[in-house]
Order: sequence, then structure tokens, then C-alpha cells
Amino acid sequence: MSGLFIRNVCYSYEPPVWALKDVCLDIDAGCFFGIIGPNGSGKSTLLRCISGNLKPQRGGVFLGGQDVSALSVREVARRMALVQQHSSLEYDFTVGDIVLTGRNPYIKRWRGESAQDYAMMNDALKTAGIPHLKDRPITALSGGEWQMMILARALCQQADIMLLDEPVTGLDIRHQVSIMGTVKRLAKQRGISVVCVLHDLNLALSYCDGLALLSKGEVFASGKPEEVLTKHNIESVYGTGVTVLRHDGKMYILPEMDM
Ligand code: ADP
Ligand code: MG
Repeated sequence: MSGLFIRNVCYSYEPPVWALKDVCLDIDAGCFFGIIGPNGSGKSTLLRCISGNLKPQRGGVFLGGQDVSALSVREVARRMALVQQHSSLEYDFTVGDIVLTGRNPYIKRWRGESAQDYAMMNDALKTAGIPHLKDRPITALSGGEWQMMILARALCQQADIMLLDEPVTGLDIRHQVSIMGTVKRLAKQRGISVVCVLHDLNLALSYCDGLALLSKGEVFASGKPEEVLTKHNIESVYGTGVTVLRHDGKMYILPEMDM
């Protein structure tokens, strides 16, 4: 297990506009870390820089002392599983086929999947609570089932860092709680670090050990959730009024309605 060190990361899709500016964060091993911020603030870009998918023009992401952009795609995939937003998978695959692709970073090209890979696929389906979906075509899944399949694939990948981009956006509250709970439990049991982009500030408060609030590509605040999600920080970054409530020692954030 190793921590992630994000040092002065700058990324631009279209120079001279920076999507990320001088981002510095330390994410401890085993931590459940949330990234929040308005639409377009750079959350997905940051996650893709962490995963090595995008190479920062300045600064770097270090995993166990190694610069992620210097590792091969297979090496990175053994350490980190990236679950992207709107992943679109087409064609006539079954859920089992997709989950099995989590083994790709370990499979020797000329050998194909071993019995152990299949056993791990079945295990991952069980852990995600969807063994009954193994032979279901992926074109016939609900939003919640789809996310559980993607999560099972990440588990099958056996990475010790999971990068999740809005894993519960668009799901009903039961599925939100079920997915967040599964991830949190697994992270604890297996010592996995989770870096998770979330839109729901109350989920971020409940599940995350640490948070970074992004604004226009920069870290506006980072630290413990209660310290980051203050009325002042939220209103400054999102530009809308909120009420922060405390009940039974817990904090809740309510948007002020503009009617
Ligand atoms: P978030 O995930 O917080 O909504 P993104 O990281 O997707 O934000 O985007 C950050 C900024 O980078 C936005 O201004 C967005 O328009 C821009 N951006 C994202 N992807 C691309 C791309 N492929 N090409 C050009 N600009 C992009
Ligand atoms: Mg995004």
C-alpha cells in the first residue's frame, strides 16, 4: 500500500487555458478521499492525471515514490483502477465478460484467461452482490446494475487504489447508499485507497475521510470534510446560498431555494 502525492499538477487541453493549476494534495494509503467542486472545475481531469491517463504538462503524481507517468499502462493498471464517468461499452458482451477484462493487466497475451482469473471474476461478482447478472447482456442493465458491474471489474483488477468518477450520479438513493457502502466496506476490509469524485455534498460528508474542493482548476480548500464544507467555502465556490445544519453530532448541507 502506498500513498498518492500530487505535486504542482498543471494540465491544459487547449493552451493557454489551464484545466488544472498547481494542484497539490497528499492522499494517505487506505484513505477514502473525495473530490468535489462545480461542473467544469477539473475533477475528472484530476482523476485522469492521477491514473496516468493524462500526463500533466507540469508537476507530477507520485505513487510509492514513483512518477505515475513513467510507469507502463499495465503497471499502472495493477496499482490503480479507474472507473470513468459515462463509460460507454457497446457490443454484445455479458456482465461476466466485462468483469473478466479487469484481469487484462495480468494476462499474458498468448495464454488467455486462467481458471484463477475466472474464479476471481466470480468472486468479484459475488462481492458486488451481482452473481445473478453474470450471463446478462450489458445492454440489459439498469443504472445501478451497470455501476455495480463496473465496480466488480475494478475489484477483479485487484488494484490497491480505486479512482471513481461520480459513481452514484443519476442513481436512486437506495443504490447510492448501497454503492457507497460497498466501496467503503471493501476499502476498509482490503486496505484499498479510494479517490472518489462526488456531487452530493452530504454523501461527501458522510463517507469521506478527506476532501478537496476544486474551483476553476485549483484546490480551493482541502482537509477534513467538516473543515472543507463550510458555509463560506460552499457559497464562494458554488455561488449559491446554503444552510449548514447540525443534528446528532452530524453536519448536513441544504441548498437555499431560489423561488
Ligand atoms: P469536471 O469533471 O469538474 O466537471 P472536467 O475535468 O471534465 O471538469 O473539465 C475541466 C475543464 O476542462 C472544463 O473547462 C472542460 O470544458 C475542459 N475539458 C474537459 N475535457 C476536455 C477535452 N477533452 N478537451 C478540451 N477541454 C476539455
Ligand atoms: Mg467530471
